[in-house]
Amino acid sequence: MAEQKTLSIVKPDAVGKSNIGKILARLEEGGLRIVQARLVYMDRPMAEKFYAEHAERPFFASLIEFMTSGPSMIMVLSGEDAIAHNRQLMGATDPAKADPGTIRADFAESIERNAVHGSDSPEAAEREIGFFFPAS
Ligand code: ATP
Ligand code: MG
Repeated sequence: MAEQKTLSIVKPDAVGKSNIGKILARLEEGGLRIVQARLVYMDRPMAEKFYAEHAERPFFASLIEFMTSGPSMIMVLSGEDAIAHNRQLMGATDPAKADPGTIRADFAESIERNAVHGSDSPEAAEREIGFFFPAS
């Protein structure tokens, strides 16, 4: 597997609980390198654009409310098979279904307030990295 890049977000729930450091340690200990990072307080248009694929879902309004409730730590991660590897370290969307030892099992509050985001395909990774790091 080749070196890949993926976009990772520590979401406002985890930032608010001062869990940035513990989550970054999981990613680094898991073998991923943080190659770019910014703390971003997303406004509504930005969050709506980022999650546009979910615009028709019943949870969209609540998701946007959550993602604009405080700052997020946005990172580009690099490593072997980084997209899938990061999703493994994150665990399932719903923390009740996440494997023990995953970030969401240990830090998420609910299926919505689930601590982290990770790109789910090479196409998504390219779009999402360009969205937050346009110069890269
Ligand atoms: P992410 O895209 O944030 O990495 P994901 O790919 O695991 O998470 P998606 O299906 O893309 O999950 O959903 C995007 C986000 O929307 C979830 O991470 C979560 O915050 C929220 N979400 C997803 N499903 C639900 C739901 N049923 N109820 C409430 N919020 C939800
Ligand atoms: Mg997703």
